[in-house]
Amino acid sequence: MSTSSKHFDAVVVGSGFGGATVALRLTQAGARVAMIERGGWPVRDEQDWDPRSILLDKRYKSESPVAVDLYGFGRPDDYPNETVGGMSVFYGGASLRLRERDFDRWPIDYPDLAPYYDEAENLLGVHGQADGDPVGPPRQQPYPASPIELTFPAERIQNAARSLGHHPFPIPTAINFSDETRPTCVLCATCDGYPCKIEAKNDLPATILKQAQEHGLKIFAQTTAARFERSGARVSGLACIDGTTDTQTTFTADTFVLSAGALHSPAILLRSRFDHPSVGRYLMRHCNVIVACVFPFRTNPGRTFHKQTCITDFYEQQRDETGMAVGVIQDIYTPDPIVMKAHAPWWGRGVIGLTHRYMQNLLCVAEDDPQASNRVELTDRRDRHGLEVPRVTHDYTEADKVRSNVLAQGAKAILQEAGGRFPYRYLIDTFSHAVGSVRMGTDEADCPLDLDCRYRGVNNLYVSDGSFMPTSGGVNPSLTIAANGLRVGSRIVELTE
Ligand SMILES: Cc1cc2nc3c(=O)[nH]c(=O)nc-3n(C[C@H](O)[C@H](O)[C@H](O)COP(=O)(O)OP(=O)(O)OC[C@H]3O[C@@H](n4cnc5c(N)ncnc54)[C@H](O)[C@@H]3O)c2cc1C
Ligand code: SF4
Repeated sequence: MSTSSKHFDAVVVGSGFGGATVALRLTQAGARVAMIERGGWPVRDEQDWDPRSILLDKRYKSESPVAVDLYGFGRPDDYPNETVGGMSVFYGGASLRLRERDFDRWPIDYPDLAPYYDEAENLLGVHGQADGDPVGPPRQQPYPASPIELTFPAERIQNAARSLGHHPFPIPTAINFSDETRPTCVLCATCDGYPCKIEAKNDLPATILKQAQEHGLKIFAQTTAARFERSGARVSGLACIDGTTDTQTTFTADTFVLSAGALHSPAILLRSRFDHPSVGRYLMRHCNVIVACVFPFRTNPGRTFHKQTCITDFYEQQRDETGMAVGVIQDIYTPDPIVMKAHAPWWGRGVIGLTHRYMQNLLCVAEDDPQASNRVELTDRRDRHGLEVPRVTHDYTEADKVRSNVLAQGAKAILQEAGGRFPYRYLIDTFSHAVGSVRMGTDEADCPLDLDCRYRGVNNLYVSDGSFMPTSGGVNPSLTIAANGLRVGSRIVELTE
C-alpha cells in the first residue's frame, strides 16, 4: 500500500454534529483544518426520497459492519449509514435543549452550555416557540424562526393531547421553512430517515459545514481514520485509508479532534491502544418506543409532513425519586408499507397493506441508565480495510423500561383520544440516539474525558461527538452535541492561542 503524509493545524475525524461544530470554530479562528469522513457526499437525487433505495437497499450504508449483541442475544451485523454530515443528513431535525435538572449528574451546568445552545439554534436555523415547552429551560433569545402552521395529522394529535390536559407545543425543528434565499421545505413525508433531495433540511452539509468550508475547512470524504499514532503524551499522527484508491495517508497536526460517533470513536481509540478502562463503556441510546393505532379514516391522505408535536408533560415526573428524566412524546411518520412488510412476519404482511394508510404513530423517547456493561469493544474480525470490527453490547434496565412504559401509556391514551384503536407498540432497535461511550467527567478513573472533552493523559486529543455525554437526558441529542462542540471548539482556541 502506498503512503503519503499531510500536515494541518488541526484534524477532525467525522463530520457529524460534534465534528462540524468544532471545525467551524477552529476555522473561524484562522486554523487550517482537515476533516476526515469515511462517507461520501449526499447525492440529493430522486432515489434519496425513495423508501426502497434508502431504507431497504440502504444506498448510504457503510461497507464496514458493526457486530451487535442486544438484550443478551447476538443479532445480524449492522451497517450504519455514512455520509458527509453524519446522521444529520437522515435526522428528523427535532432540536431540543436538555433541561436544567438533566445537568445534575453532569460536571458542567446548563448555564455553561446555554450560550452555545443559542448559537447552535442560530446556525441550524431552528423554527420554534420560545414559551411553548412547559418544562423547558430558561432562554436568553427567541428562536431564530417561528414554527409553521400545523398540518392536519399533527393538529389531530395536539387536540387530543390538550383534551387530556397535556401541553403540546411545536417541536423546535431545523428545517428551512422560510428563508427564500435557499430551497424551502415542500412538506413531504420522506424526511425523518431520508436525505432531503432539495437541501431544505438544515442538515450539516447545508449549514455548518458549508460555513466552515467558506472559512477554509478541507473535507476528505470517503477517507477512513484507522488509528492514532502516539508519541509520549501527544498524538503525533492519524493513519487514514482513502476508500477509493486504498492508499494510506498519515495526517499530522497540532490538535486532533475525534468525532466519529458514539459507536466508532471508542473503536478508533481502542485500535490506537488508548487504554482508559472506561473507553467504550456507558453506551446509551434512549429507550425508544413507537406506539401505533389504527383509525377509522385515512390519517394522512395528502402524505404531508407532520413531525410537529412534542409533549413534555411527563418529563420531570420521576425526577425526585430517581434523579432522571422520563422523556418526551413526539409525532413520527408511519413507515412506508414496503418497509413495514419487509420487517413483518409473513402472516402480518396482508394486514399492513390494508391498514397502513389508516395508522398514526407516536414516538416515545425515554432516558436510559448509563451502565458500564453496555459497551463498544473490538472483535477479532477484520473489515475490508483490515481494521478490527467493533461489537456493540446493549440491554435496558428495569428502570429504563418503566420510564418508556410511562410514555407509551401516555402516547396510547393520546392516540385513542384522537380516535385510534388497536394500540400496538414496538421497541426501536437501532443506535440512532447512541451517546455516552467516551464520557466526560471529574472522576478520572471512570471518565476518559476531562471537562474540556480532552482525552485524559493525551494533551492534544479531544472527543466531541455524542460519546462525551455523561447521561442521555430525555430529549433527542443533536442540539446538545452541537452546543457542546461549539463549547469544546472555543476551549481549544483559548488553549492554543
Ligand atoms: C433516522 C434518524 C433520525 C434522527 N432524528 C433526530 C432528531 O430529529 N433530532 C435529534 O436531535 N437527533 C436525531 N437523530 C440522532 C442524531 O442524528 C444523532 O444523535 C447525531 O447526528 C449524532 O451526531 P455525532 O456527531 O455524535 O455523530 P454522527 O452523526 O454519527 O457522526 C459521526 C461521523 O463520523 C464518521 N465516521 C465514523 N467512523 C469513521 C472513521 N473511522 N473514519 C472517518 N469517519 C468516520 C461517520 O461516517 C459520521 O459521518 C436521528 C438519527 C437518525 C439515524
Ligand atoms: S419535509 Fe422538507 S426538509 Fe424534510 S425532506 Fe421533505 S422537503 Fe426536505
